[in-house]
Amino acid sequence: MYSFGLHYFIYNARWLYIIFFFPNREKIKSKVHFGTLINLYDVLIVGGGPIGLRVAQRAAEAGFEVNVLEKDRCIGTPVRCAGLVSPRVVAMTKTNSVIDEFSKATIHPPNSEELVLEAPESRAFVLDRAAFDKEMAKRSIEAGAEIELGCKAIDTKGDELVYLKDGFKGRVKAKMMIGADGPSSIIRRVSGLSGPREIIPGIQAVVGEKSNGIHIYIGNEIAPGFFAWSVPHTAGTVYGLGANDGRAYEHLINFLKSKSVDDKVLGIQAGSIPLGVMDKTVGDGLMLVGDAACQVKPLSGGGLYTGLVAADHCADVLIESLETGNISAEFLEEYHRRWQRDLKRELSKGLWMRRIYCGFSDKELDKLFDALRGEKILDVIGERGDIDYPSALAKSVLKTSPKLLKFAGPLIKNLF
Ligand SMILES: Cc1cc2nc3c(=O)[nH]c(=O)nc-3n(C[C@H](O)[C@H](O)[C@H](O)COP(=O)(O)OP(=O)(O)OC[C@H]3O[C@@H](n4cnc5c(N)ncnc54)[C@H](O)[C@@H]3O)c2cc1C
Repeated sequence: MYSFGLHYFIYNARWLYIIFFFPNREKIKSKVHFGTLINLYDVLIVGGGPIGLRVAQRAAEAGFEVNVLEKDRCIGTPVRCAGLVSPRVVAMTKTNSVIDEFSKATIHPPNSEELVLEAPESRAFVLDRAAFDKEMAKRSIEAGAEIELGCKAIDTKGDELVYLKDGFKGRVKAKMMIGADGPSSIIRRVSGLSGPREIIPGIQAVVGEKSNGIHIYIGNEIAPGFFAWSVPHTAGTVYGLGANDGRAYEHLINFLKSKSVDDKVLGIQAGSIPLGVMDKTVGDGLMLVGDAACQVKPLSGGGLYTGLVAADHCADVLIESLETGNISAEFLEEYHRRWQRDLKRELSKGLWMRRIYCGFSDKELDKLFDALRGEKILDVIGERGDIDYPSALAKSVLKTSPKLLKFAGPLIKNLF
């Protein structure tokens, strides 16, 4: 089996050749790519996040030669996630990185009283996200995949990937390429596939003080266009928010001050939440998955469940394409069809619901939450609340209390 390390050594050894034998670098540059024109791998996965690693594990288990290129020098850090997931994610991954689980969440409307939502069993699990990513990496390595750290993809040239490592440029070739390189995916950009409809900056602070439970804060003051949260963390609590007015950091500082924890911050983590439903996620020899393909729930920004569902479809079609030798965009389109069959409806409804939510003033949000306080509605939320499929819950709540329709008028009717 070829090793990426060997290829990397051969490629970089050109500099010794250049320095000692040829002063004319330009002339040499054109000769040195001899080592890259071999199909080193069956699959190159760009991005060592949980979604790329899931595909890597599945493809390696099927016996294919897989290499994961990760730009950071460590899997799992920096963290850009609160780690809040549904029981489905825990079941799908059989993860050992759960640090807490909850059957209750408290919603804090802008000015009216808080609303406690309670379910008969645990509906939200908190993951140690750094440990989770490492766990996914370990599994893919055990399955036979290789992971190249500190290796940043910068371009593609046909079926070759151009990368930067330690300041040196290199090229590597594979039969199939998977873009799992997150919200600002370079693979998406260089392939000419259209990107997210909207990118919400997400920012959070790890605070060295324990807090109780999961709390969601909404309102245009605290987190315009999104919401704020506090969730347990191994080091204490993570306080975070998304905001679409370009002032996310300022809002975070205000949030921390309002909770009197601004002097207990251990670290700040910032990332992006890509929203939209992409109408094309494949090309010849290429598939996009996870945040790179905007497979993120628009209401919560959660991308682990949706990304994992898509990762399994991606792995299935990848394996079929390598087994049949058909890597054409037409063949790979089957992946696009499968993930859209499972997720498109919910993502589209989530975008609609988000539009309605963003149109509310704080006063209207308070009124809406006051209206939700009815016992029957809380029972429905407790019974059917599902962080992966919030639109189904919205439908049940509206059936229980049709008067809620007045809050969003004709827009909400388009949801169903
Ligand atoms: C503040 C915040 C909080 C969040 N909280 C939650 C939550 O509670 N629950 C939830 O489900 N989701 C949450 N999310 C979303 C979740 O983090 C993502 O959906 C998830 O990480 C997607 O995984 P991924 O593997 O697709 O992408 P990523 O986790 O972003 O992984 C992509 C990887 O690709 C690497 N990469 C990028 N560019 C290159 C390149 N050019 N070359 C090589 N490697 C590259 C990156 O370094 C990264 O390791 C949150 C997001 C943010 C911003």
